[in-house]
Amino acid sequence: MIQSSDTIVLKTISHGDTSKIVICYTKNFGQVKLIAKGARSKKSPHKNLFFPGRHINISYYEKPNRELLLFKSGELLSSFNMIEKDLDRMTFSQVMMDLLDHTMTHSESQESIYKLTLTALQNLNQRDIPVYWTYWSFHLQLLSHLGFHFETDICHQCQSTITTTATMTHHQELLCDVCNHGALGFIPLTKRILKTMKALLNEEKAPYESYTKIERQTLWKFLWQYTHFHLESTRYMKSLEVLQQIYGTL
Ligand SMILES: [Zn+2]
Repeated sequence: MIQSSDTIVLKTISHGDTSKIVICYTKNFGQVKLIAKGARSKKSPHKNLFFPGRHINISYYEKPNRELLLFKSGELLSSFNMIEKDLDRMTFSQVMMDLLDHTMTHSESQESIYKLTLTALQNLNQRDIPVYWTYWSFHLQLLSHLGFHFETDICHQCQSTITTTATMTHHQELLCDVCNHGALGFIPLTKRILKTMKALLNEEKAPYESYTKIERQTLWKFLWQYTHFHLESTRYMKSLEVLQQIYGTL
């Protein structure tokens, strides 16, 4: 049976002399793994189609209980020129695709995740939205979709509403200043950072502000510590190394 779906390319792997294995997140069927035979040969009409972060439509032969499916044909739906020409945007796009690849399983099909990813790529392709803002929004909302939502204003210990600063413990629990007792080694979160995370989690188009280097580094540190804690497999993402090389310690 032939299936067809709009999809986002997450990852490609060279296979044999001219073929490619393509891992996609499809709109209708969740993650799909395809083999595109001959896709690397110069004569192939699909030689420039598969690239992580591409938005394409694909047709493939569906077979029950088969993990690797045979690609039939495909076409580009939208091109993100700005991303493909800009190293910063490209790096963030790669981290997004890598994060999805490391957190999705074969059976999950969530159109909401597909839409979230497509919106993030469209925003990343716009000059007037800071790249880190688009990235944070995508990452935090993806965590929510995956069931790792967290309250940004409730103390884990005393359950009181946090109105000023807070800290994130090694067990990824948010503590108010009273409960924390000034313990060292935890990530301090200012009121502004907490407010930003709440906005990014709850609003599709949260207004963005400019942040100091320390604020940005704190948010990065929290984001990855929280993600690595809950999603062990993300510790070994290759694209994170690239991100770290460009931006220093995250
Ligand atoms: Zn407390």
